[in-house]
Parts: sequence; structure tokens; C-alpha cells
Amino acid sequence: METKVLNTLEINKAVDILKSGGIVAIPTETVYGLAANALDGNAVSKIFKAKGRPMDNPLIVHIADMGAINILCSNFPDKARKLTEKFWPGPLTIILPKSNIIPDEVSAGLDTVAVRFPSHKITQDIIKESGLFLAAPSANKSGSPSPTSALHVFKDLNGKIDAIVDGGECEVGLESTVITFANDKPKLLRPGKVTINEIENVIGKIDIDDSVYNKLKENVIPSSPGMKYKHYAPSAKIILINSDSEKYIDYVNNHKDSGVVALCYDEDIDNLNVPCISYGKLDDSKEQASKIFSCLRKIDDLNAKVAYARCPKKDGVGLAVYNRLIRAAGFEVINIE
Ligand code: AMP
Ligand code: MG
Repeated sequence: METKVLNTLEINKAVDILKSGGIVAIPTETVYGLAANALDGNAVSKIFKAKGRPMDNPLIVHIADMGAINILCSNFPDKARKLTEKFWPGPLTIILPKSNIIPDEVSAGLDTVAVRFPSHKITQDIIKESGLFLAAPSANKSGSPSPTSALHVFKDLNGKIDAIVDGGECEVGLESTVITFANDKPKLLRPGKVTINEIENVIGKIDIDDSVYNKLKENVIPSSPGMKYKHYAPSAKIILINSDSEKYIDYVNNHKDSGVVALCYDEDIDNLNVPCISYGKLDDSKEQASKIFSCLRKIDDLNAKVAYARCPKKDGVGLAVYNRLIRAAGFEVINIE
């Protein structure tokens, strides 16, 4: 199949493809999403095929008006409503009991559905002009780093999808924060730009799923099926180094070898004796979030074998960066006191 690359003045073409059951990669404020008509199970199944995504991993449905909630969901708890009032449109996904209209392909057989109202103007225009709800996971090959530019999507999915709308670089650069209302107490399943603190300021204490910090234990059924799969990983091996700057630099310089690169902060570059890929300034978690996925891709562009990565901070938006990097590293961390 030929994959058309469309500019933002051609979204009518993207809309036509979506309305006729095709799949199109679209820009959002988080990462590029691979979209299909969420109410057409056949169209949605094309997403799984193109990405190589396991069929038991459910999708987020994207909406552009609040009326959609009543159509897609059977219950809208007060706390969930409060969060949408504060953070929508924006990078927050809420999981609610689903209505009968949701095809099994979207919810992967669960009795819930994940919903998000994106803030990106182009995403909203595509949803509104199509008159559809759009199921859209990240538009990458399953397992590889999420795409934050049209070029990333093209490299992963050219020939497998109908079109890509090129809307430039994604602002946030990490996927949405995901919170579930499937149980009595709201629970964070995936950290993102909307932080735990910001959420708790609106609805009080929430639970945090263990998988946010840790590898899923064997024989445990994950709250979010996506958590059990390998994620965000380039071909090179990533090893997280949890230490201060000085010890990180010493460690990397002592392990200088062919094929070794450093995934570091701007401040580390001058002192490192290996090729460096910086994912931002030490104290700027938002910048790190916006760069981390393209940096993970650059590691492979350099044909590196091993990347020693500075361990990000685990608070605020830093927690989301940490959550992605630790998965990219297959949970391999070296702690240096
Ligand atoms: P992505 O498709 O890359 O944006 O990831 C979406 C994440 O949300 C995956 O980890 C999914 O497993 C998770 N997810 C989507 N729908 C649900 C649901 N109904 N219940 C639990 N997790 C969900
Ligand atoms: Mg994904």
C-alpha cells in the first residue's frame, strides 16, 4: 500500500480515508497517533495489524466534544468529571465503564473504555470534520519508541498505513497520563505530563499502579494490558545509571568501548569521552519529556550497541520520563551510591 504524506491543509483527505474505514497517522500534543473509526471494528483491527500490536492491548478513543462521553461510557463518576473539567482538552486519558457501542477490538474484551479529548488543533479538526470518534494508539511499530514526528511514523509504518498527516513535532512528547475509574478508588496506570500532584489537587488521594515504578510481577494480571509488553526500546541495549553527575560521568568514561554512547543531560556532555545524545537540561523535566523518544531513536541511528542513560528524577513530569526509560532499559538499572 502507498502511504500518502499529507500536510495540515489536506486534512480533508485524511478525513475521507478515515470515513471510508482506512487508518491515518495524526499529530497530537502527546505523540503521533494511528487513528481509525473507533466504532468500526474492522477499521480498528487494521491498526493492530499495521503496528504488530497484540490484540489484547486496548486502545484510547479520542473525542472532540464532551457529549461523546455519554455515548461511549455507561457511567461518568463525579471525580472523573472534575478531572475532565480541569485537564481537558489535554494530555489526560480516563478509563470508564464502556457503553455497548464500543467494539471488542477497541476495549480488547474489557468492560471499560479509555477516552481522551486532545488539545491539538489539527487532531480536533480531524475528529470534528470526520464526525467520528477516533481509536488511536501511538503510531509506531509495537515495542519501539513512540513517534514524535511524522518522519518517525514514516520510518516505522511506511507502506502499512493509508496516510500520515505531518503536523510537525509533538509538544509534550510523551503519551498521555492514564487514570482508571474501573474500581472504587481512582488509580494512575501511566504517568504523563499531567502529574500525580496536579490530579490529587483536584480529586484527593489516588492509588498508583505498581507498574508505574516496577516491572510487572509474574502471574499478576495487569490493570493495563499494555504494561506487560516490551516498550519504547531501540535495538541498542539501554542501561540506566542511578547516581549523581560525577559518578555517572566516571562510570561511562570507565566503560568506554566501541558502540557505547551516553544518553545524558546537557550539563554532562563536556566531561564525557563517548558520543553523547543529550535529552535535555538536568532541571527541565518538560524538555526531557519532549526529547526522550527522538533521542532513543537517535541511539539506533548511531548504530550504538549500548547506551548508558542518566536516570531521570522521579517526581512531577520526571516520573513519566523515568517510567518510559526504565521500560526502554528492560528495567536494567545500576545504582551507584
Ligand atoms: P497507547 O496505545 O500506546 O497510547 O497506550 C494506551 C495504554 O492504555 C496501553 O497501556 C493500554 O493497555 C491502556 N489502556 C487502554 N484502554 C484501557 C482499558 N480499557 N483499561 C486499561 N488500560 C487501558
Ligand atoms: Mg504505544
